[in-house]
Amino acid sequence: MGVCPSATMSLLRDKFTGALHPWARPEVLTCTPWGAPIIWDGTFDPDVAKQEATQQNLTIGLTVFAVGRYLEKYLERFLETAEQHFMAGQRVVYYVFTERPGAMPRVALGPGRRLRVERVVRERRWQDVSMARMRTLHAALGGRLGREARFVFCMDVDQHFSGTFGPEALAESVAQLHSWHYHWLRWLLPFERDAHSAAVMARGEGYFYYHAAVFGGSVAALRDLTAHCARGLAWDRARGLEARWHDEGHLNKFVWLHKPAKVLSPEFCWSPDLSPRAEIRRPRLLWAPKEYRLLRD
Ligand code: UDP
Ligand code: MN
Repeated sequence: MGVCPSATMSLLRDKFTGALHPWARPEVLTCTPWGAPIIWDGTFDPDVAKQEATQQNLTIGLTVFAVGRYLEKYLERFLETAEQHFMAGQRVVYYVFTERPGAMPRVALGPGRRLRVERVVRERRWQDVSMARMRTLHAALGGRLGREARFVFCMDVDQHFSGTFGPEALAESVAQLHSWHYHWLRWLLPFERDAHSAAVMARGEGYFYYHAAVFGGSVAALRDLTAHCARGLAWDRARGLEARWHDEGHLNKFVWLHKPAKVLSPEFCWSPDLSPRAEIRRPRLLWAPKEYRLLRD
């Protein structure tokens, strides 16, 4: 059935995944080599996960950056669909980081849900906006966000929710399989290969390639992740380097060094530009089409 016994043990101990049935999806990998569950549709009971989260009276943070034209283009739909699908029934605090708090869209929030807007400076290059997130998140996690939330998800804004994204996704540390690469051979994965970069991965390192559009975990775990990535980005910059995939390269390095407690299948962050695949049953987040010419000059 493709389920390793050690993984089954750790699945049974997982607090949020409810009754986990890895054998319900025999056609996909449902555990990592280090025994963490890979969450696919049908492998968990969303009601058990919900109950567990409610009993713990959790507050869950969701951070998103909307700088420059990304604000008008994506933020409203991201937040509106998050209201429908992200941690429904739980206490949620959104943190939106933007250079123009006055231009925020008005989104009606359900009970127990709050929105906080934090001002950031606008970096000139889009790559710098993306990379600066690690440093900003690290500071926020050390401040009010870190005091308010027990778990936090950090997401890109150029996507929208299309299905339930609930407490089954919670764990001490959570990484997202990249929908372009999850079925590629390991040696083809686009890890950073520049030996001078802090993000470098040697051949043979790295089981999976993770997408920086979604990562999460406890406040303490995310403090470590963001500190590591911000440090690596600064190290590279001081040497005139930039990892090929920017912050994502550093995220992949961290996740390789610190194996996540839970991995989300590509159903949790799917690219509709890809041809349909039988194993992708119910996408939870859908990428917006890449319209870089409109956004990035
Ligand atoms: N971002 C932003 N303004 C920018 C560039 C990036 O707000 O000018 C934020 C936004 O949240 C975006 C994320 O940084 O989703 C990552 O950038 P992008 O989505 O363009 O990168 P990609 O997903 O194409 O690698
Ligand atoms: Mn993106």
